[in-house]
Amino acid sequence: MNDIEAGLRRRIIELCREMNRSGLNQGTSGNISARFGDRMLLTPSATPYDAMTPEMIVSMPLDGPDGEWSGPLKPSTEWRFHRDILRNKPEAGAVVHAHPTFATTLAITRRSIPACHYMVAIFGGNDVRCCDYARYGTPELSELVLQALQGRSACLMANHGMVALGGDLDQAMWRAVELETLARQYYYSLQLDGGPVLLSEAQIADVLRSFAGYGHQSGKTGV
Ligand code: 13P
Ligand code: ZN
Repeated sequence: MNDIEAGLRRRIIELCREMNRSGLNQGTSGNISARFGDRMLLTPSATPYDAMTPEMIVSMPLDGPDGEWSGPLKPSTEWRFHRDILRNKPEAGAVVHAHPTFATTLAITRRSIPACHYMVAIFGGNDVRCCDYARYGTPELSELVLQALQGRSACLMANHGMVALGGDLDQAMWRAVELETLARQYYYSLQLDGGPVLLSEAQIADVLRSFAGYGHQSGKTGV
């Protein structure tokens, strides 16, 4: 194993622990993957993050047949959508899946997040879609997630949670944290008389243009 792969394995575990410490996720829910050449490094299934070691991270070929992987433990049950996102989105270097309370509350009520705050634009457009329900780990779920991610770097998953991707692990986690913040703000705005006032498509297009030269896209702020 070279230093780059060892570093990715260690960072995956650090971010898993951090997302539970910060309350973004809980228990063994959620999973994280990173692209490593033509392979994917992915958390094993149902393994407490505090007990996870770099050798336990699963390595899976991105273009190999289903069911091919190496490591001492089984891959996350969500290996399929992690692999399919990395296969279909060359700009993605990492994927974070979690069950954060506010994003999941919106997903339980089958709400997408509209342009209630300009930060929605960091996900690529004027909304973050909520995909329909399919059981965890299924090819159907992977298909639905990919559809909801068209032109976007995050989506909600009906009655389940969220997915965010980034050019690297830190950017994917930065988007996951920002998505939960946006979900919380949208949720609270729905409680007030009149509800949220949404930004127009032109206003979001203006934000997208301004982001081109702004640090927001780097995501180097960590969790
Ligand atoms: P794994 O423990 O298999 O990664 O599953 C957790 C999860 O969030 C399933 O959707
Ligand atoms: Zn899940």
